Amino acid sequence: MNLMEEHAREFMGLPKEWTAYGWECYPTAGRKETTAYLVTGACFQGKTTEGKPDIRIAEVEGTVATVALPKAVHKRWLADRETRTGKCSGCDGSGREVALWSSSTGTTYRPCSDCGGTGKPKAKK
Ligand SMILES: [Zn+2]
Repeated sequence: MNLMEEHAREFMGLPKEWTAYGWECYPTAGRKETTAYLVTGACFQGKTTEGKPDIRIAEVEGTVATVALPKAVHKRWLADRETRTGKCSGCDGSGREVALWSSSTGTTYRPCSDCGGTGKPKAKK
């Protein structure tokens, strides 16, 4: 999800403070195959105690944007990014992915299903 935010920022030349808070697959209706992702975000006025943008506080006027990323474009961007950074795009190089999140126990992780926990891009066939 964070990589979609990064791609949306890059795609539209948005500032690095721009934070995504909505993700949608297009088309949404029926069982049609996804052809694009709609990423919605804004710059926010407040920060959380961890210093991250606080999406519960009002956004900066005029910064709300919905970016449509065609699926094929996003896939190519991910592949390019793996080449550029040497990091798996499934986990951004951390080797793990979120398995479960709950407000009482926090986040539980498991090894990334794309790279098997190595954090490196899978060898291309
Ligand atoms: Zn990975």
